[in-house]
Amino acid sequence: MSAPVKKNDRLTVYIEDLTHDGNGVAKVDGYPLFIQGALPNETTEVHVLKTLKNYGFAKVIEILKPSADRVDAPCEYFAQCGGCQLQHLSYEGQLKWKENMVRNVMQRIGKINAPVLPVKGMEEPWHYRNKAQIPLSINEAGQAIAGFYKTKTHSIVDMERCLIQTGEADAVLAGLKKELAASGIQPYNELTHEGMLRHVVIRKARATGEVMVVLITKKKKFPQKETAVAIIKKLVHNITSIMQNINSAKTNVIFGDETVNLWGKDVIIDTIGDVRFEISARSFYQVNPEQTEVLYKQALDYADLQGDERVIDAYCGIGTISLFLAQKAQAVMGVEIVPQAIEDAKRNAALNGFTNTYFEAGPAEEVIPRWYKEGKEADVLVVDPPRKGCDEALLNTILEQRPKRVVYVSCNPATLARDLRILEYGGYQTQEIQPVDMFPHSTHCEAVAWLNLT
Ligand code: SAH
Repeated sequence: MSAPVKKNDRLTVYIEDLTHDGNGVAKVDGYPLFIQGALPNETTEVHVLKTLKNYGFAKVIEILKPSADRVDAPCEYFAQCGGCQLQHLSYEGQLKWKENMVRNVMQRIGKINAPVLPVKGMEEPWHYRNKAQIPLSINEAGQAIAGFYKTKTHSIVDMERCLIQTGEADAVLAGLKKELAASGIQPYNELTHEGMLRHVVIRKARATGEVMVVLITKKKKFPQKETAVAIIKKLVHNITSIMQNINSAKTNVIFGDETVNLWGKDVIIDTIGDVRFEISARSFYQVNPEQTEVLYKQALDYADLQGDERVIDAYCGIGTISLFLAQKAQAVMGVEIVPQAIEDAKRNAALNGFTNTYFEAGPAEEVIPRWYKEGKEADVLVVDPPRKGCDEALLNTILEQRPKRVVYVSCNPATLARDLRILEYGGYQTQEIQPVDMFPHSTHCEAVAWLNLT
């Protein structure tokens, strides 16, 4: 079949859907056209940019009939920056779309009939990110630029503020560039591998207000470090920690292996619910703590702990969910593949005085079967895997060992649906699915599912 449209055609289309990366979808005689910036239920005049065998791309010329949910994107950089995809859709519209998306994926991929509840969103869906990783560079005129990357590129959109980051991140974004000129600190140039300052990372603990700034430099010898500390202290009044991380490699990975203290404390402390967490320069930590609490409370609610249960937390990261569960369980065993994260989990367990937790580093699909062999059984199993979902061997272990309750925390509805199907074939029944909006204005959606044995 050849495409019913060709490059440079202009036509009027009706937008039926929105893809997982935020593009509108129209069908021309069944042939999908992906249209950036178009929203479902809009009638739009488009210009065809490119056609492939099974689908094509077009751009909006004019929106003839806008969606009732369309709004002007509040951010002035929205059109160029790759950080957000949905600012042109009202927040209510985003939540509705995410709910439908999760429900459709459950039915289409998993044939899962359990109820999908309305998405739990944020009351104030702005300035929610507690970590900003800002790349620096220089423009053709030799001036410092800083901001976030354009979609699917490594070119920086130079900006002064970001509506989803903290005020402290904005202060650095807007102020640092001006200060650098007189300081003698050269921003790093990715193309030539010249310059010193590669990235600035700003982390804020929402509950305590503590702020850490990490300067990622090309070399350890940083002659202007006193000047850098003075600049950061001037820009961020509530700063509690300034760290230097050294990354000498020609890479787009942000952090190098070595971190040293330039000023203040080595860590900042945050709390989620009643649990305290210590965050160092490179620690993994959820980026939206307010919604993380909503997500974990839901997981805890679905785990329905009475106090005498043994719980396994697979893919536990720094033990955030584990420690949440440990408040109500007899014992929690967490497993995670990154050894450093397990060190953090142990430290955080001690920081909170938990004595009913046990953490082990390794692949969940190998460690958990071994635990069962050693008689370490679980009444409730919680999983929170990466986007690719649970390892098949882990799902097989669940089906063999049959814990009476499974709570599945997921950052990818498609793999959640696939894994729920496997668990349902094996004798579990999905009871309910609660999506939670952890990343307003992006197309991501987290969800928690609860399964019981039938
Ligand atoms: N539950 C944590 C982290 C979830 S992110 C939290 O809420 O903060 C998923 C985690 O799975 C990551 O920390 C990743 O390192 C880990 N991971 C990936 N593959 C794994 C595997 N095969 N076994 C155990 N952990 C794994």
